[in-house]
Amino acid sequence: MNVIRTFEDYQHHYQKSIEHPENFWSDVAHGFTWRKKWDKVLEWDFNKPSVKWFIGGKLNITENCLDRHLTNHANRTAIIWEPNNPDEDARHITYQQLFEEVCKTANMLKAQGVKKGDRVCIYLPMIPELAYAVLACARIGAVHSVVFAGFSAKSIADRINDAGCNVVVTSDGAYRGDKTINLKKIIDEAVQHCPSVSKVIVKEYIKSGAPLTPGRDVWWHDEIAKVSADCPAEEMDAEDLLFILYTSGSTGKPKGMVHTCGGYMVYTNYTFRTTFQYQEGQVYWCTADIGWVTGHSYILYGPLSAGATTVMFEGVPSWPNPGRFWQVIDRHKVNIFYTAPTAIRSLQQAPLEFVEKYDLSSLRVLGSVGEPINEEAWHWYDKNIGKGQCAIVDTWWQTETGGFMIAPIARVTPLKPAYATLPLPGVQPAVMNEGGLEVNGNNVEGRLTIKFPWPGMARTIYGDHQRFKDTYFSTFPGKYFTGDGCKRDEDGYYRITGRVDDIIIVSGHNLGTAEIESAVDEHPLVTETAVVGYPHDIKGQAVYAFVICYEKPKDEEKLRGEIRDTVSRIIGPIAKPDKIQFVSGLPKTRSGKIMRRILRKVAEGDVSNLGDTTTLLDPAVVDEIKAGAL
Ligand code: ATP
Ligand code: MG
Repeated sequence: MNVIRTFEDYQHHYQKSIEHPENFWSDVAHGFTWRKKWDKVLEWDFNKPSVKWFIGGKLNITENCLDRHLTNHANRTAIIWEPNNPDEDARHITYQQLFEEVCKTANMLKAQGVKKGDRVCIYLPMIPELAYAVLACARIGAVHSVVFAGFSAKSIADRINDAGCNVVVTSDGAYRGDKTINLKKIIDEAVQHCPSVSKVIVKEYIKSGAPLTPGRDVWWHDEIAKVSADCPAEEMDAEDLLFILYTSGSTGKPKGMVHTCGGYMVYTNYTFRTTFQYQEGQVYWCTADIGWVTGHSYILYGPLSAGATTVMFEGVPSWPNPGRFWQVIDRHKVNIFYTAPTAIRSLQQAPLEFVEKYDLSSLRVLGSVGEPINEEAWHWYDKNIGKGQCAIVDTWWQTETGGFMIAPIARVTPLKPAYATLPLPGVQPAVMNEGGLEVNGNNVEGRLTIKFPWPGMARTIYGDHQRFKDTYFSTFPGKYFTGDGCKRDEDGYYRITGRVDDIIIVSGHNLGTAEIESAVDEHPLVTETAVVGYPHDIKGQAVYAFVICYEKPKDEEKLRGEIRDTVSRIIGPIAKPDKIQFVSGLPKTRSGKIMRRILRKVAEGDVSNLGDTTTLLDPAVVDEIKAGAL
């Protein structure tokens, strides 16, 4: 049941999911442990907006991620933890061990005063305790708000205050490649501005000698020693809050997306099993950080609810050398590997020896997420990592959607490079034109919306339902607006062309940033590109490209000419960049996405106010770019 193995199966399931969505999702939901089954599958109104799934259903997501696997698979590895330092041993945590650790952590949180419905901020590196803390919150019905352990004190304080967290879980530090980061110091600075926080639980990890604030801070190891490993799961309503997660902030003030227990569980599990075609016993690795939605849905909840073995990697792709990812795949015989285009593009710049040293023959499926993957990177990934033998799944989705929306099903959906391909069962995309009308048929482009609810969708923005409505349900009344532009080609395949706010209109033609960037990247000397529009007297807007090359160009003018020719050939002369600036880096968010709004300011020659840059990975690149502006 619910299993897709062929393209005909997909078409059949898709049809069923559109004609009878409630039957479709109710069938899927029967595959879980519920304390009480739902009374009604769905109630929705996109105008309010209000969406509820599995109404009246009672469950605890951790019983589905942990308890139910203990009967038959207690000794199966749930998490393979690969440390930052490759010379240290990996840890294999079985489902039984994970269950016990989660129960103890849950009891520790309770002992520190955490109750059902309370918000807990988790600011931890990618160590097993991060998984324990997240699942422990879910076990006792507390709402977790994980903040990526790379954010500044100000960003954390904003997020803690927005969610009104009473407890923070952190560590005395983190390893990141050859660096250490004193997380506790950052938390101390943040919490000064957070009146709601009464307790800080500190995992001793790097032994940084971090001081504890008496009355507020406690050591994880002291407190966990005092509690039992018996923690019955709290009974949750399907629509109770599971977590709050802030979007990565590529476009402005981050939004605290609210996800609920029942629908999110069903959706992440279904999309994980279906898209990756996960088979029992396989080893799966998603390289994201649990601080992002990708880590929530596809390191923890999706894989664990499916009884999978999921790799959790503490380190970074470039340290101690750019072969690290490939070494980890070899070491753990990874079958399904899921990463981001930003990582692929950066590793692509290293000599191929770093790949060739390792045995990657265990790989079956390669995934991509976070940004549109340009064709060059797609082919590199396919050829050098997949050896032409793996399915490439380019998964389009968002923090707001909870799980995959448009993605190929591995070995089932015929692939097209740079296309996210087709909607998953239950997902009903609609392409809208600027006039607000749906454009039907194929060979069309416009704004991507979704016209019917799916179980994994966010229910609101925490504390600001009006903003939720304004952002997602007002542009095209009655539809969920994704903020992304897309093309639907002659086969009905979707290609994401970038964020709508980033679309460049040259002489009346809409040009997607992703498409132009992909074309520039086709030049053999180019590794990565970001394009933005800037005002132009005649054309309305013109294209400004920021280009990173494998090596410093010898003759910049000549290379500019070649790049323009490449773009002309692939898209057409209309898309040719007027200005091409060679740079050594691009302003990226901590999740690796380009902040085009900063580049737009540079292109417009207005660098006095760049807006909020606190979520930038490396603020120094901005200075270089400003200095070299054309
Ligand atoms: P913010 O909403 O705060 O600006 P963000 O949109 O970067 O941040 P996420 O929810 O992490 O936060 O990212 C979702 C966005 O990432 C999508 O809307 C899309 O623009 C882009 N994206 C993700 N996956 C893909 C993909 N496979 N292809 C194309 N674009 C993708
Ligand atoms: Mg977004």
